[in-house]
Amino acid sequence: MKIICIGRNYADHAKEMNSPTPTEPVFFMKPDTALLPKRNPVYIPEFTNDLHFECEIVVRINRLGKNISEKFAHRYYDEIGVGIDFTARDIQQKCKEKGLPWEKAKAFDHSAPVGEKFIPISQIEDLNNLEFHLEKNGEIVQKGNTKDMIFTIDQLVAYVSKYVTLKIGDLIFTGTPAGVGPVKIGDQLTAFVNNEQLLKIDIK
Ligand code: MG
Repeated sequence: MKIICIGRNYADHAKEMNSPTPTEPVFFMKPDTALLPKRNPVYIPEFTNDLHFECEIVVRINRLGKNISEKFAHRYYDEIGVGIDFTARDIQQKCKEKGLPWEKAKAFDHSAPVGEKFIPISQIEDLNNLEFHLEKNGEIVQKGNTKDMIFTIDQLVAYVSKYVTLKIGDLIFTGTPAGVGPVKIGDQLTAFVNNEQLLKIDIK
């Protein structure tokens, strides 16, 4: 499986990163080694001094698809969850300055934990009006709603599948709202969709 991450899909986050609002989706990928084994903590890698959380709604692909049209995109996923797109912000900044790819900053081991529980789409009233939030040590640090996405989940599925065949089990991280920030040893992150806790990670 592969992990596809969408960048700058919330205008307020693009603004906090001093990035322009994109006119088409921005995506990059993480390997399957970016997943975090169940109940493991995330260890801050030695190569970064600025590990950031980015809380994101995650879509799980359930059908093989290529060149999917937006109209039929909803047939290619049936569950959503929540995940953290961990980013070595200091490394990413250096990559950006040099115009280099972001993999070192984004695709390292355990950089894409997802919550153990996914919610069936059939149980979600409106996928384009879904609240989620992240707490760090019990305090809310990020609050998002899928209605604020620049590109909808269906538009993202259609767009990515023009370039990359989607396979069963692939995950799409759909972008983060404003409020990204650093973690330190001892922090605990918990993420919620519609106030239901779906993810808990200890930072070590
Ligand atoms: Mg992200």
